[in-house]
Amino acid sequence: MDIFQKCYDFTEAAEARTSGYYPYFQVVEGEADSEISIGGKKYVMLGSNNYLGLTTHPHVHELASAALEKFGPSCTGSRFLNGNFTIHEELEERLVKFIGKEAVLVFSTGFQTNLGTISAIAGRHDTVVIDKDDHASIYDGCKLSYGKVARFEHNDMDSLRKTLASIDTTTGGILVVTDGVFSMEGDITPLPEMVTLCKEFSARLMVDDAHASGVLGEHGEGTAAHFGLTDEVDLIMGTFSKSFASLGGFIAGDANVIDYIKHSARPFIFSAAMTPASVGAALGSLDVMETEPEHRKRLWATTHRMQAAYREMGFDVGASATPIIPIILGDEMLMFHFWRRLLEDGVFTNPVRPPATPPGRALLRTSYMASHTSEQMDFVLDAFKRIGAELGVIK
Ligand code: PMP
Repeated sequence: MDIFQKCYDFTEAAEARTSGYYPYFQVVEGEADSEISIGGKKYVMLGSNNYLGLTTHPHVHELASAALEKFGPSCTGSRFLNGNFTIHEELEERLVKFIGKEAVLVFSTGFQTNLGTISAIAGRHDTVVIDKDDHASIYDGCKLSYGKVARFEHNDMDSLRKTLASIDTTTGGILVVTDGVFSMEGDITPLPEMVTLCKEFSARLMVDDAHASGVLGEHGEGTAAHFGLTDEVDLIMGTFSKSFASLGGFIAGDANVIDYIKHSARPFIFSAAMTPASVGAALGSLDVMETEPEHRKRLWATTHRMQAAYREMGFDVGASATPIIPIILGDEMLMFHFWRRLLEDGVFTNPVRPPATPPGRALLRTSYMASHTSEQMDFVLDAFKRIGAELGVIK
């Protein structure tokens, strides 16, 4: 049998393209901003992770350019051997202070950070316990490890307790991994209860702050800071691809643990270092987070306004408590129809269907940024009201 047969049999994408309902790989012309251009037409951007809007901040551009100028476009290798530049060490030192952990290790992407950390920590006799709605990179980190995997129901602490109680820890330990803010529905993990349970069962706790960095905590330090639990969370993971307006990821924790990961994580050791321009952009964003709180304030003002407005109009926004606001529609065809109508009227959203959501919970993922104007939000709410009524989703 030809190993490519599955490719020749794959017709789903072609069928969706023909029907006009293919939503992926939209070609954006120009910079990531609150308004984007596709095919010469302008759209209000509700589909990004650019929470603080820092992709257009002059200081971020300046530091990215300066790093490119000083260190060149590439490190041409892994940090382990030849690609460890002063700028990587500087970013790690800055993050130690910002996050409030003993040590930080910077990876080339957030995905690699989860792959590398989980697979390094979970050995043959250990168990990784994950929330069912955790990000794909956490699932894949488990696959890459030699450890066992157990899942608990989303944000359900009774389910976590039962799962932890069922694990035999005579020969191995437990690592619990959760998203701090869940990427599709914008709900926050119940961290205080989780910390208590982890202590009770002697499990270590890792929080993925991809969508919490820049958003939660006084300056955007993340979920643990938001709950005042930085010392209680063993590993804090973050990405630079969202609020940090760059590309890369980091893991923060005790110095011994980070040193172990540094010498064991294969996606770290066998992959080239974060490019200097990306490090420069991340450093620039960190400066802005520390010194310009107005971006976070503005982000939250817009978030509160939009959450209240959608609820008032009668949309189901689930348990969203962050700038990620899902419009839960349930039926997949209805969701794609809504998505396309919004696009026709100049609003870019992300259509989300199973397996990225549980079955029967198709949704439009909308997310907000500090640089959205109130006129743009008026325009968006008007479109949702009109199309929601047209499709019978709201009255
Ligand atoms: N964790 C979560 C929760 C994410 O949403 C993402 C990216 N969507 C990642 C990890 C991976 O991050 P990166 O894009 O930096 O590889």
